[in-house]
Amino acid sequence: VTGEAGAPRDGAPAGDLLVVRSRRELAGALARAPRPLGLVPTMGWLHAGHRSLVARARAECASVAVSIFVNPRQFGDPADIAQYPRNEARDLAICAEEGVDLVWAPAAEDVYLPGFDTLVSVGSIARPLEGAARPGHFDGVATVVAVLLGLVRPDRAYFGMKDAQQLRVVARMATDLALTTVVACPTVRERDGLAMSSRNVHLSPQERAAAPVLHRALAAGRARWEAGERDAETIRTAVREVVATEPLARLEYVSLADDATLAELRRVDGPALLSLAARFGTTRLIDNLVLG
Ligand code: AMP
Repeated sequence: VTGEAGAPRDGAPAGDLLVVRSRRELAGALARAPRPLGLVPTMGWLHAGHRSLVARARAECASVAVSIFVNPRQFGDPADIAQYPRNEARDLAICAEEGVDLVWAPAAEDVYLPGFDTLVSVGSIARPLEGAARPGHFDGVATVVAVLLGLVRPDRAYFGMKDAQQLRVVARMATDLALTTVVACPTVRERDGLAMSSRNVHLSPQERAAAPVLHRALAAGRARWEAGERDAETIRTAVREVVATEPLARLEYVSLADDATLAELRRVDGPALLSLAARFGTTRLIDNLVLG
């Protein structure tokens, strides 16, 4: 896909994969793309989770576009964005393998025009959990996704359940602003249960060995629910107890919330989202399971 010099030049075809950067090139490529068009928004460092979104889009759409953009507006901590992993050549090779038609890898100036002064802020569903832990995060996500959808105008946009609250925030916005249809795709995991994430690359070998405790803990909570437990706090406690067995894990929160509103539950009477966040060293990981 790419020569030694790195990424292909703007608009240069790479096999069947077209890579574009500017808004003008994007518009030209989109005008020629058969519909329906599916968009998979990513921040790059692609893995099997992203591949599964592309495969779903490939199965449902005549054209598949992937955007690769590490969005500065959704990172609170400048150190976090500085260390976010990047390898565009590898990402393009993966896109080519997966039969992607178009990759849009814009610079920040192509996404945010000079004088950009709009914030898309989703309401109550964006406030708890990750919204509380990372102030401003979902405003950054909703704003960039609105710009991406505005420029690409896909018929469908594909998002992972791994980022459960993000999926709900984006789906809410896309419905409210009549932007596109959001398609939810299941979480892809490593063999030991760890949810695939670009951030996993930052785990030391010891932390990587410890990290599957998150999925084990969620599974323990689900087992309680499957056994008939309906008291939410009992289920959260079961999750916390498993995470506590791993000294390298520093738990931030365990939540058992209504699947639609993300309000914390006292009793589990309908579909619920069991989710958590924890740090391993400096790496912050999130994971979740839906009950019911
Ligand atoms: P990111 O590049 O981390 O912003 O992720 C881009 C998209 O891929 C988002 O919709 C994520 O929810 C989704 N995604 C990330 N990891 C996974 C995974 N392990 N399984 C399924 N989807 C994922």
